[in-house]
Amino acid sequence: MKKHNFYAGPAILAEEVKQESSKAALDYQGTGLSLMEMSHRSPEVSAIMDEATSLIKELLNIPEGYQVLFLQGGASLQFYMTALNLLDSNGTASYIDTGSWSTKAIKEAKRCGNIEVVASSKDKNYNYIPKNVPISANSSYLHITTNNTIFGTQYQDMPSYDIPLVADMSSDIFSRPFDVSKFDVIYAGAQKNLGPAGCTLVIVREGALGKVSRELPSMLDYKIHIGKGSLFNTGPVFPIYVSLLTLRWLKKNGGINGMVQRNAAKAQALYDEIDRNSLFYGTAEKEDRSKMNVCFLLHDESMSDEFLKDCKEANIVGVKGHRSVGGFRASIYNAMEKDSVDHLINIMQAFEKKMG
Ligand SMILES: *Cc1c(COP(=O)(O)O)cnc(C)c1O
Repeated sequence: MKKHNFYAGPAILAEEVKQESSKAALDYQGTGLSLMEMSHRSPEVSAIMDEATSLIKELLNIPEGYQVLFLQGGASLQFYMTALNLLDSNGTASYIDTGSWSTKAIKEAKRCGNIEVVASSKDKNYNYIPKNVPISANSSYLHITTNNTIFGTQYQDMPSYDIPLVADMSSDIFSRPFDVSKFDVIYAGAQKNLGPAGCTLVIVREGALGKVSRELPSMLDYKIHIGKGSLFNTGPVFPIYVSLLTLRWLKKNGGINGMVQRNAAKAQALYDEIDRNSLFYGTAEKEDRSKMNVCFLLHDESMSDEFLKDCKEANIVGVKGHRSVGGFRASIYNAMEKDSVDHLINIMQAFEKKMG
């Protein structure tokens, strides 16, 4: 039975990606071995890593001087690893606090140097993105969370400063184009818009490395991972392969610009319904609304269980909101079809007729 998967993460994968990866789980390309049984140093796995790397470079238009890494530990380890590699203990970095993930990034970075939280939207339960934030010029970098998975806000345009950016793009990477050259590090856990949990994509500017005086543990040193082509230790081969299948799917479906159109159509339709429907309202400021995670509430919260029940009966899963916002959250990542969003809209309309 087809389920409409609106979970925030781990999240929906394209149908053909699931089909293809299930074949590889049993017999990888006629080798008689599951991909999960093969050496991470085999020619087959090398080919997977090479193709994934070159597709990422092509799709994101990554300039010379950057390296693409597949690491482990999730975005959560990158909160610490970025600061450890880029920020000296007597240095300063600027952070914008736009939600729970930013807060966690700040907490970990503070272990490495001075952190200036230059703006926060905590005053309004993170329902907006602070703009035109002044940054001190002696900052090593500015860290942002480009899409706030929990609160449903997103930078519509990346901020522009004279200092480099470091960004957590876990929940909106590959959903839109951006200028990679403005960033020293971009990181993303795979399980929102790329693949299954277990691999973390890191894009790092090589020129930004080697400037801190501390000694780095090998596993936390970007330079070591670069030197070993992401194979310093046994990498998460299967999640990388599923990510590769997603990248191929992405390219076939119009690349990043294809995703921009696809995502705009889905988000527009759903926000239009939230604004039209007399029972619901959106939580994020309109100008900062995320095209990936759509957060909305019922004016009468006592109807919440009834709406969740209707969703369940309609095979809609994952729409219960995160506890810090409440209500509902529909995550509509790249792989989600417009049909599923239309189906949710139909259920919202039927609910209005029933309750209104
Ligand atoms: C999910 C998420 C994280 C956490 O990712 P892990 O891979 O579980 O560490 C961090 N930041 C953002 C924006 C996320 O959406």
